[in-house]
Amino acid sequence: MNISGHAKLAGVMGWPISHSLSPRLHSYWLHQYDINGAYVPLPVAPDNLEHALRALSSLGFRGVNLTVPHKESALLIMDTVSDIARRIGAVNTVFVTDDGKLSGTNTDASGFIENLRLNAPKWQAKSGAAVVLGAGGAARAVVAALIDAEVPEIRVLNRTMEKAEQLAETLKGPIKIVDWANRDTALEDAALLVNTTILGMINQPQLEVSLDALPKTAVVNDLVYAPLETDLLANARHLGLHTVDGLGMLLHQAVPGFEGWFGVRPKVTTELRDVVLASV
Ligand code: NAP
Repeated sequence: MNISGHAKLAGVMGWPISHSLSPRLHSYWLHQYDINGAYVPLPVAPDNLEHALRALSSLGFRGVNLTVPHKESALLIMDTVSDIARRIGAVNTVFVTDDGKLSGTNTDASGFIENLRLNAPKWQAKSGAAVVLGAGGAARAVVAALIDAEVPEIRVLNRTMEKAEQLAETLKGPIKIVDWANRDTALEDAALLVNTTILGMINQPQLEVSLDALPKTAVVNDLVYAPLETDLLANARHLGLHTVDGLGMLLHQAVPGFEGWFGVRPKVTTELRDVVLASV
């Protein structure tokens, strides 16, 4: 580690925070690029969020990532909020400006689409409809990215339909709400399936969906990364479909924050994946 009195500081605020993979990820890059800096886990209880964020400037921090449960409440604390964070309704990356102000953005949408484009280069936005399972925070980022990429139709299915309707109302775009019970048939003619629910995660129920209706050219992306190969991805692979796992998005969404705080645009490499995977 390369830390002196001039070290650049950043971190991640969450409650709890011990599960976060971000310190390992950013510390790898700091070491890789021989940067005089540190990225630390910051356990911040919800009631202390505003106080903690306001203290960043006087503590000399260049910014932080935010994770559960702070992403939504931080929107109201920021001095400025990017368009994408406002649309998604959540801030995951904070920059402290030279005059001590807090500037919030959200890098999940760009992380999702960059990872998809890199790992499924044959997928094109215009290839056809996308099916998004879920309507929580991750789904909002994914749908915003798909709208911006000009996907012609985005079918959103969620266990609680009202949440899907709210998502469609705020994000607008070519969104079609489909009943959660119809997820097998919703896949007909689709070019992309994205699971943004918690189903398939360790200690959660499996996602029950038949992939038979998906065209053989479709791409299946699971945002879940623990386990790395979910049952959904394993089933898709057995059917010969192209699969993209959830770890890549996690790594790609971290790039703009690191660049803003430490001044180097870091690369997402297989070695980085292995280092982060070792702690999943
Ligand atoms: P969230 O806001 O809490 O949303 C959870 C979603 O899962 C909702 O759509 C919820 O539906 C659905 N769900 C929960 N239990 C369900 C069940 N038993 N049956 C059907 N649907 C169920 O969480 P989030 O922040 O969006 O995160 C969702 C997943 O994405 C997590 O696995 C997270 O780790 C992953 N994620 C990955 C990345 C990455 O970089 N790879 C980034 C962000 C999130 P209801 O609305 O009906 O409750």
